[in-house]
Amino acid sequence: MTRWWLLKRHESIMKVLIALGGNAILKHADRGTAEEQFANIRRTSKELVKLIEAGYQLIITHGNGPQVGDILLKNEIARNTLPVMPLDVCGAETPGMIGYMLQQCLRNELQSHGIKLQTVTLLTQTLIDKEDPAMKQPTKPIGPFYSSSESLRLRQEMGWTIISDSGRGYRRVVPSPYPRSIIESEIIGKLFGEGFLIIQSGGGGIPVVKDEEGNIHGVEAVIDKDLSASLLASILGVDILMMLTDVEKVALNYSKPNEIKLDRLSVGDCRLYEAQGQFPPGSMGPKIEAAVRFVEAGGQAAIITSLELAKAALEGKAGTTVSNS
Ligand code: ADP
Ligand code: MG
Repeated sequence: MTRWWLLKRHESIMKVLIALGGNAILKHADRGTAEEQFANIRRTSKELVKLIEAGYQLIITHGNGPQVGDILLKNEIARNTLPVMPLDVCGAETPGMIGYMLQQCLRNELQSHGIKLQTVTLLTQTLIDKEDPAMKQPTKPIGPFYSSSESLRLRQEMGWTIISDSGRGYRRVVPSPYPRSIIESEIIGKLFGEGFLIIQSGGGGIPVVKDEEGNIHGVEAVIDKDLSASLLASILGVDILMMLTDVEKVALNYSKPNEIKLDRLSVGDCRLYEAQGQFPPGSMGPKIEAAVRFVEAGGQAAIITSLELAKAALEGKAGTTVSNS
């Protein structure tokens, strides 16, 4: 097998954009210590390097939900001592912490396999449309839970939209608009073309809007990382969009007694099952939408599976594959 990291612009190498789910970095039961996150990322890096060793050229993106939640909570706790940072600035901190851990763990794992390949994290801004209907309908819960009285204060002081989150308390919700373009896509493309291992669009990228003069500004919103991943996968023209999460396959009647795990889905199947409500908006919905968009834009296939099954899935032996046929 040709070693792509020794070559420049080798067209015949299979290119794969990997979108890492929250679970690859932080598990539900974890407290979120640096040690826990490093341990998870070390395990993730081992799996990713197996793919690199097998000859696939990778480009990586990752979620940031739990990490940005912790940063927002720290801001809240320190609000009487230090200025509170807006959501876009808090979000921008996460590619630093996660990118750092990934860069270090990947480097160490690559080195132990004798692979000379440099990894870089690229802070990414994702352009959204001010007029996106989602901007008027905040739906995505973020950050800590509040009491009823705190929620009243924050509504008044900060102008936030706060909802009661399934009986667990009150939570801020922000818009989750569609990614339209990626500000740094040209440099990402150049580095990818040169064969470097790039970590980009962490947490879906920092959402920005353009004003009349063409200047960009951060907004208080979040972008789904799978949708940003899909957009970049199409821009770069990679072969496969791979979304690694905590389920082996997409299922019908998920977690019900009549659950059916799916090996393959056509775009038509996706639309049909989506309309039946098989894929909830906060979890599987955006992955299916990301897969459909990538395939419709000419991508070969999108795969949804778990980290451990990534290699088997690329060989057609595991996971759920979404394609045009
Ligand atoms: P990630 O952090 O990887 O993006 P999400 O929680 O957003 O993870 O999405 C993955 C989750 O989607 C799974 O853990 C599973 O609980 C849920 N899910 C919802 N519907 C389905 C479905 N039809 N098939 C498989 N998983 C589903
Ligand atoms: Mg998700």
